[in-house]
Amino acid sequence: VLRYLVVAEPELGSRPTETKLVYLPFWRLSALLYSCDIGKRQRASESVSASGKIPLMGRGVFIWSTTSPSKLLGGRVVERHLADSATTALGVASLRLRGAIYPVEPFRQEHEGRGEVVAPTLDYEVVREALYRSAIEFGYSGDNIRLECQRADIVAERLSLLYYPFWVRRAAGSVAVWDAVSGEPEPLHESTAAPSVQSSPAFDELTLVELRCGGCQSPLAPGNRTVVYPCHECHTFWVAERDGLRPFEAHYARPLQRLDSGEEPIWLPFWRVECRLGYWEKTIRTVGELRSKLGIRPLPADVGAGADAGKLAYFVAAYGALRAPRLDHAARDLTRLQPELTVGEYQKGEEFRCFYAPSDAHELAYASWLQLIPGAIGKRLRSLRVQVGLTELWYLPFGAKGRELRSLTSGRRYERSAFRGVGH
Ligand SMILES: [Zn+2]
Repeated sequence: VLRYLVVAEPELGSRPTETKLVYLPFWRLSALLYSCDIGKRQRASESVSASGKIPLMGRGVFIWSTTSPSKLLGGRVVERHLADSATTALGVASLRLRGAIYPVEPFRQEHEGRGEVVAPTLDYEVVREALYRSAIEFGYSGDNIRLECQRADIVAERLSLLYYPFWVRRAAGSVAVWDAVSGEPEPLHESTAAPSVQSSPAFDELTLVELRCGGCQSPLAPGNRTVVYPCHECHTFWVAERDGLRPFEAHYARPLQRLDSGEEPIWLPFWRVECRLGYWEKTIRTVGELRSKLGIRPLPADVGAGADAGKLAYFVAAYGALRAPRLDHAARDLTRLQPELTVGEYQKGEEFRCFYAPSDAHELAYASWLQLIPGAIGKRLRSLRVQVGLTELWYLPFGAKGRELRSLTSGRRYERSAFRGVGH
């Protein structure tokens, strides 16, 4: 768990007397939320209010309305905060807007000397569950708000701890608290019920992993959220784990088309997830069944479609372009095409890093298929079941020229700006 801290403002003249600087722990979840709504004439808005006893702080509200049967896939960044029970025990219920406003910095050892850093007491899994529920749960009420079907998934989650500074004065039998950034007195709540018993430590031991290829010893390019590191020298793949780097099996796909003159080769990573679909009393296991039973076929201009006997799979972008408000178009096109990939050789070219884990690819199963399945009949779409299987990382070749990226698998062209800012 990464730890961050908001710095106190000790220069404020109004520091109350006989107080101690105390950093109280809050949990923070950052993630991408994908949700799919199917139905008629509806208005949906996200509920950011506290549900039950969990103090929440939400950012971003989205509202839509539709007038005819339709399918809506929404994606956005969510950020949620949850006060640790060590914090609520002092009467501080939530961060409110503060968590979003003040700049945070990574927690460093020297911060320990400036004030009392209160250790969190909630169990990691309890926190994760509460934040998950709060981020996915939608509250709908009112006459004109009705949802017929909804499915929401969270991907690329990051759970971290945020320490916020307070001045605390403990006198006989009473506690007073001030916000140590704004200087405002903190309205205190009754401290909540006894926190759940801590069953496991909230922190792992910090381990440092040297980013050096285990094959050829070349340094690997560091990346804040990289999941799989390609070695740019010997073209092997590595994942960072507690006790060091572990080799990872990924493939470079053989291009089905040649590079045109003037095109630069680029490798983009995708997760390929073999799966089986259950849909409206049909079972779809092969590429042919996807075409005959669901009517999902390659577009006329596409080449490289796999044979009917091939195993069904869906594709999810592993590079960082997967961001609100859209799923990655290149991955969607591959799912429609169902290309038969074969292992090829690495050829010199820029390689994008891999930001998404296999678990993210699994979370996106429903969003990936719901956007492709034709029609918008709620009870049909609700019947979709996805069973995931073999999950592999494939680097697919693209040709880059000017403002365009061309898939050397399907021949399909993409505006290069769609891949901009993906931190590769
Ligand atoms: Zn290497």
